[in-house]
Amino acid sequence: MYNPSSLHAEEFICHNEIMASIDYASKNRNNLSLIDELIEKSKEKKGLSHREASLLLSCTDTERIQKIYAVAEKIKNDIYGNRVVMFAPLYLSNYCINSCMYCPYHTKNKNMKRKKLTQEDIAKEVMALQDMGHKRIVIESGEDPINNPVEYILESIKTIYGVKHKNGSIRRVNVNIAATTVDNYKKLKEAEIGTYILFQETYHKGSYERLHPQGPKHDYAYHTEAMDRAMQGGIDDVGIGVLFGLEKHAYEFAALLMHAEHLEAVHGIGPHTISVPRVKKADNIDSSAFDNGIDDATFAKICACLRLAVPYAGMIISTRESQAVREEVLRLGASQISGASKTSVGGYASQESGAENSAQFDISDNRTLDEIVRWLLDLGFIPSFCTACYREGRTGDRFMALSKSGKIADCCHPNALMTLKEYLEDYAPEQTRHAGSALIMKELANIPSAKVRRIAADRLKKIASGQRDFRF
Ligand code: SAM
Repeated sequence: MYNPSSLHAEEFICHNEIMASIDYASKNRNNLSLIDELIEKSKEKKGLSHREASLLLSCTDTERIQKIYAVAEKIKNDIYGNRVVMFAPLYLSNYCINSCMYCPYHTKNKNMKRKKLTQEDIAKEVMALQDMGHKRIVIESGEDPINNPVEYILESIKTIYGVKHKNGSIRRVNVNIAATTVDNYKKLKEAEIGTYILFQETYHKGSYERLHPQGPKHDYAYHTEAMDRAMQGGIDDVGIGVLFGLEKHAYEFAALLMHAEHLEAVHGIGPHTISVPRVKKADNIDSSAFDNGIDDATFAKICACLRLAVPYAGMIISTRESQAVREEVLRLGASQISGASKTSVGGYASQESGAENSAQFDISDNRTLDEIVRWLLDLGFIPSFCTACYREGRTGDRFMALSKSGKIADCCHPNALMTLKEYLEDYAPEQTRHAGSALIMKELANIPSAKVRRIAADRLKKIASGQRDFRF
């Protein structure tokens, strides 16, 4: 039976409820008055249930889909404004004892060059990331208690935060590592991580077990209940996601929202972020093992319906997606994007072509960070390198309360402008600096509060004259 408050995976991700929701959606997909009602309801920005959102996702009426997109765009704009948070992944180690059939890290892959960064290597990677202008990263690692135990991850986080190179620093380290124990989550919290991210891959238990035939990740319940342990361990910003392509997307969509409902029901706080990766070509991967790939139009619809269903969860789009897809979903709901990503271990600092042999998957957006910043500016977005919320303790329910009250814009907007200013001063070529400065001036004038506008203008001047000690 579906019970969002249960701590058992198969009760909060209830297969029968997912199937009933898909059935409900397919029976009502031509019920245009019901669909219109739900679109109206979503305008209140209070979210939709997994069933309601599943119905919107199943809708094929062109006019209604355009309405859904218009509401998604409005919600995105009301809550996140034109800010886009920038980040990059940092791959620490591809040693792995799991056998995920879609991932080249699987134990049977003998082609993959196994690599683990030393603390010295990590410092070099961090300097390379800082030299591009990054301030926020997510660390990635395979699961291997001998090669990559939690102590290694903790030491690496310390190294990352400790590197101060020129004006650079990494101010928020998010972590995407395998499901672990409450004790280890406590240690990660103590190491001051930002968000703990873990993709479910697929919520379908049978498919999950088939796609993870061996290794600790085979345990569906342990993996699915990871966010509860993370929250028990004190981590209040968690990021969920599925790997689209493994299972039918309508199944994953409903289950992803049930996971969000569960976190809200048990911990009083939904996911901080939702990621929507799609399976990509990778070394030694049998692509015939999964045939549920979704086209770009379906992908855009999923992003828009997620925006309506969980307005306050950040939405992350990685470089797995092309420039064109990213442009569309930025409009429809995405709030964070990566830039200049390398999925290889040591890929940022190493000039050797060999580094790419350790890559996890192919990426579609190969542009430099500056090209991405320029592109965002041209589209009228503010690339934001801000990490202030987490540094000021605005995490978990405190972040959500601020966000829901609309007050977050008073902090986020000026902070986005100031961190963009830092980027322009420290890293950008002339052309980008020019475009960015013009946008900052325009956006500054748009800050409603005279007091906030004054403070922001003053800080922008200080940044231009070299001051860098603000807590963004
Ligand atoms: N090892 C950790 C785990 O198992 O959860 C997390 C790190 S793993 C490096 C990050 C994510 O990469 C996985 O959760 C998976 O969704 C994604 N991934 C793996 N293979 C992929 C592929 N071929 N295409 C796209 N994403 C992939």
